[in-house]
Amino acid sequence: MLNETDAASGKEEIKEKFISIIEKFIGLAATRLSDDVMARLEEMRKAENTPLQKEIYGSYFENLKMAQELKRPCCQDTGMIQFYLNAGTAFPYLSYIPEVLKEAIRRATVSVPLRPNAVDFFDEKISDDNIAERSPWINWELIPDSQEVEITVYFSGAGCSLPGQARVFKPSDGIEAILPFVFDAVLGPGINACPPLLVGIGLGHNIENAAVLSKKALLRSFGRHHSHPKGAEFERRIMNGLNSAGMGAQGLRGNQAVMGVHIESSARHTATIACAVNVSCYMLRRGVIRLKSNLSYELPAYAGETL
Ligand code: SF4
Repeated sequence: MLNETDAASGKEEIKEKFISIIEKFIGLAATRLSDDVMARLEEMRKAENTPLQKEIYGSYFENLKMAQELKRPCCQDTGMIQFYLNAGTAFPYLSYIPEVLKEAIRRATVSVPLRPNAVDFFDEKISDDNIAERSPWINWELIPDSQEVEITVYFSGAGCSLPGQARVFKPSDGIEAILPFVFDAVLGPGINACPPLLVGIGLGHNIENAAVLSKKALLRSFGRHHSHPKGAEFERRIMNGLNSAGMGAQGLRGNQAVMGVHIESSARHTATIACAVNVSCYMLRRGVIRLKSNLSYELPAYAGETL
């Protein structure tokens, strides 16, 4: 039977292993785009035909290749770090997670490195380790009885956070009212967010539920559509409309503007239609790791990669 000292040292050993895995995972997600994002960018590169657009996509891919080879972040803005968790209630180290994520960020700020971006809201002092009030941002969903945890890390850069908007419409405005709202957000400030963009749209009943859904829409991998046929049709229509604007990579005229339009929705109040728009730049850094109860892991978004 373990005495208290043995138990404490075993606990620290597990925590240390967990921190080390997450630190390396953060490093991977900062330096390599996930496979579906790379495949989508390849498709987009082939669909552009002007010398300038070819040049821009060429430099994107050269930058991504060098980042992977040199093990350096693929963009200098490593953003505010956000975690989205699907956490099994029977995962044995559930209570360690907040501390593990913070410590992993602290270490990754040095080892990757991540740019210190977190500024105290009122004192305007920058934290040198990316740990600050509610930073990293952690969003939990609990999965009853599961022994596993899935952690998605998202690097929320400034350029692609600036176009974000949310608004609540009246049902008398009709669901079509979201179209000019989305187009203005994406084709206005979105041009500064290093296009091509992924557009996440959250549809729900109030501001905060639409905003969370708009971020979850960005976390969905390419190739999947809204589960409701009308939602999927809305995604197609908005994507075709945005692409017809001829924005191109870096906003320098081309055949396409967006990598995709993803909608996530929830039930709404009879008297509201809430819509939030969230945008990611082409440097869509969202990584996923799945951990089992013995801390073995899978990296579903990165074929052939280990930590
Ligand atoms: S918009 Fe994206 S690619 Fe451009 S500087 Fe910001 S994080 Fe980097």
